[in-house]
Amino acid sequence: MESQIKKIHEQLVSKQITCTSLVQERLELLKANAYNSVNSLLEETAIDLAAKVDAKINNGEKIGLLEGIPFGIKDVYMVQGTYTTASSDMLKNYKSPYTATAIQKLLDVGAIPLVKENCDSFGHGSSSENTIFGPVKNAINPAFVSGGSSGGSAVNVAKDYTVFSIGGDTGGSIRQPAGYNKIYGFKPTYGRISRFGLMAYASSTDCVGPLAKSVEDIRIVLNAMSGKDSKDQTTILSTEISEQEIAKDASGTKVGYFKNFIEGDAIDAAVKADFFASIEKIKAQGIEVKELDFFKGDTLVSTYYTLAMAETASNLSRLDGSNYGNRIEGENLIDTYATTRSESFSEESKRRIVGGNQVLSQGFSDDIYLKGLTLRDQISTNFDTDFKEVDIILSPVTPSPPPKIGESLKDPHAMYLSDAYTVGFSLGQLPTLTVPQGTVTGLQVTAAKNNEELVLKFANFLKDTI
Ligand code: GLN
Repeated sequence: MESQIKKIHEQLVSKQITCTSLVQERLELLKANAYNSVNSLLEETAIDLAAKVDAKINNGEKIGLLEGIPFGIKDVYMVQGTYTTASSDMLKNYKSPYTATAIQKLLDVGAIPLVKENCDSFGHGSSSENTIFGPVKNAINPAFVSGGSSGGSAVNVAKDYTVFSIGGDTGGSIRQPAGYNKIYGFKPTYGRISRFGLMAYASSTDCVGPLAKSVEDIRIVLNAMSGKDSKDQTTILSTEISEQEIAKDASGTKVGYFKNFIEGDAIDAAVKADFFASIEKIKAQGIEVKELDFFKGDTLVSTYYTLAMAETASNLSRLDGSNYGNRIEGENLIDTYATTRSESFSEESKRRIVGGNQVLSQGFSDDIYLKGLTLRDQISTNFDTDFKEVDIILSPVTPSPPPKIGESLKDPHAMYLSDAYTVGFSLGQLPTLTVPQGTVTGLQVTAAKNNEELVLKFANFLKDTI
């Protein structure tokens, strides 16, 4: 699909539409939606900002490419004065005292925030059912889940309620819902975009990223949000990705795929057949494709969940009724903490807090947590070796199509295993993109750290090839 941002920009500049009517129309769609994708609307702010953009255009002033473009925000980002609930009971009345850097950068270039979007509570989940706002329904077939945890963001983009949305990806939360709803979703190299103001899930893999309908829109939004930030010491310097560069011929690219992802029992037969059909189309363009060895999916899932649970148990320990969110008084302080946390966290979040504290506790941490860290190092070393041989690693996004609403809640372990193809790239902190092509839930295009340009260039090639 062509760039929606550029199309709307042209319409605004040539006065075919006004920004106010654009924003109003999208707000109405969000209000009427039956997908549970909305937690709260930023109606007043959006309409005020739209009027300012219209005034500028009417004055004959120039506007920037993102100026007046309506977007959505996963409800885990601070936006000053708005509810930031993380889709949880714990924070259902919590208002942000400040704005996340990534969102501020979009506001600074004039993009218009419309909505805080439904997601799995604190990013815990792969289906966007673990939320107090009702399960987010799939944009293509509402009987199925939207994926998670950035499900509301993916659905809003897929249904054209927002032009792009900002999700958060710790172990697949942008890529997997993008795949389930047939749009693009990008997780950049860890540190490319500041995490300041993103509610922490697992800090060592948390990434900010865009969901959109075209490679070009992903590029534009990524550039706008990237950069070093003194408020997040893990941020890195990065260069702008140019439109010309990613439009160039990708014919010299070497591609690899993990044999064991495709040959295991866990993969759905159609996903496997479609993946191989895509590989054949790529080879037919003269691209070299290699098989690579990698860790088994269940090893990746257990390593990721060990570390993610440990980090989330630590991060969420600050929510005890003292400073933020719900407080339920008990008989004494300890009882207040216990009651507040027991009553205000979801079953899934409690499972992770208990699991995380277990793997961090004396007597267990050496055998479980430290082993997880060692495995993570081995996974990174494996990637270093792979990227000496190939430029791009291609994989399905998920082993199977989306489940029906309700199914994942019955079997959390099966839900964890559905992340088998996304979590490894998160542990490696690599740039990785879902493209809505190739299998029923898309393909995942990954490159070495800081090679986002190559990822987007290869995505452009896939658009014309598959
Ligand atoms: N499904 C994964 C999890 O529950 C990933 C979630 C995410 O990236 N926030 O941990």
